Amino acid sequence: MMRDQLLGGRYRLVRRLGEGGMGQVWEALDETLGRNVAVKVISLLAGDGSRADEARARFLREARITAQLQHPNIVTIHDLGETGAGSERAPFLVMELVRGEGLDAMLRRGVVTRADAARWGALISDALAEAHAAGITHRDIKPSNILITPSGAVKVLDFGIAKAADPYATADRLTQTGFIVGTAPYMAPEQARGFPEPRSDLYALGCLLFEMITGRLPFQAPDMVGYLSAHLTQEPPTPSSVSAGVPSAWDDLVLRLLEKNPDQRYSSATDLSQALRRLDGTPEPAGGLAPPGEQVPRPQAPTAPLPPPVPTRKAAGPRPRPDTTSTHTLDRYDVAAWLIILSQLVLSVCLSAFLLVSAFTVGAGLYSGLVTWIYTAVLKPRSTGLTRGTGRVAAAAVAVQIGVLVHQTSTSRLALSGAWPFFPVLVLTIAAYCYRDIKTRRAARSIST
Ligand code: ATP
Ligand code: MG
Repeated sequence: MMRDQLLGGRYRLVRRLGEGGMGQVWEALDETLGRNVAVKVISLLAGDGSRADEARARFLREARITAQLQHPNIVTIHDLGETGAGSERAPFLVMELVRGEGLDAMLRRGVVTRADAARWGALISDALAEAHAAGITHRDIKPSNILITPSGAVKVLDFGIAKAADPYATADRLTQTGFIVGTAPYMAPEQARGFPEPRSDLYALGCLLFEMITGRLPFQAPDMVGYLSAHLTQEPPTPSSVSAGVPSAWDDLVLRLLEKNPDQRYSSATDLSQALRRLDGTPEPAGGLAPPGEQVPRPQAPTAPLPPPVPTRKAAGPRPRPDTTSTHTLDRYDVAAWLIILSQLVLSVCLSAFLLVSAFTVGAGLYSGLVTWIYTAVLKPRSTGLTRGTGRVAAAAVAVQIGVLVHQTSTSRLALSGAWPFFPVLVLTIAAYCYRDIKTRRAARSIST
């Protein structure tokens, strides 16, 4: 890329703004409309051959989807194209030129104030809420993808671009290998495993907020593998243990975002945005925000009142929430978990009832006490095939429930504390049934012979 170069017959490069892992970003003049824009050339996807062509076509397809996003806190994509020839051929995207400073540059100069962190965090959450409502996950929330304008507005860059520019992510390869895209120091555990979801963006934002209020990341590691393993296995420190004076409400909010299990984080970016707006109103304790001397003086006044959130496309109005950031709100996974637990209970009660009723119908007498009947009340040698068949179906249903329980706990989808007490009950119920069924069949054989 060189100054004065013309891309797509229309965009004249003016000056280089920066360079990242995918390529360079230039300020350019759109000669058709006579306005300045920013052009990001994805040189990562340059190259000859059908594989490179395929990767570029995929990039353009994906980028076209993210270009649909329209929100004041999301940088607008104006155009997409390809430049160069042969092995130099690379896709580019043309964006709104933001006159602002990258959060990475701001953080290099020192910590930002907690009031700014809350304001900017809420504005980033608004952008995420809009994208998530459109089915788009950012996947690469990090300081260099956040621009702050002199008036204190926030623009989030590169929505979905990390995934789009992943040279290995042809549809089949992605599912086969779960190839990782994103930036290791900010990567959610599930994304590190190759399965990003919208709440992975909340985790990354948690890392970013941690960095904003303490001046360092929650985990420190020498390399990418070290970061990924820390995200997967280590408990993050509380922000207040890293930077004295951080209020406990901030500790609660950030640690909730850094939960390993996405179910335990805020259930949506909208909820997080509301929690950050409440924090923004929290009076600061005497003695300032960051350790003395680390405060960044800025000429602008970015702590101006926080604008209300722009409604997302689902037009979700503000939902009433308990007025504390650490309260776990009921989300759809909680509801699913409790439905499963309830169905397990109902099934085990049904099986137990079946055992009890069948014991009565064969006239074997009365059984007293729950434990006694679970272990002893069961089929009799003269039970009919229908009675036995029904019992087996009920036992199989309970076995399926055990399988579901084991699967869900292994994939961490279920609230373990709520589910485990039912596990031994279910296993005992099945064991009791099998034991009595075998005994009954033996007895039946001995009667018939
Ligand atoms: P990555 O390639 O992983 O996203 P990165 O975010 O560090 O890495 P780029 O996205 O290439 O790098 O951006 C490089 C720099 O260009 C950014 O730090 C930012 O300051 C600047 N920049 C990017 N887009 C714009 C824009 N639309 N307007 C103004 N500056 C921009
Ligand atoms: Mg970027």
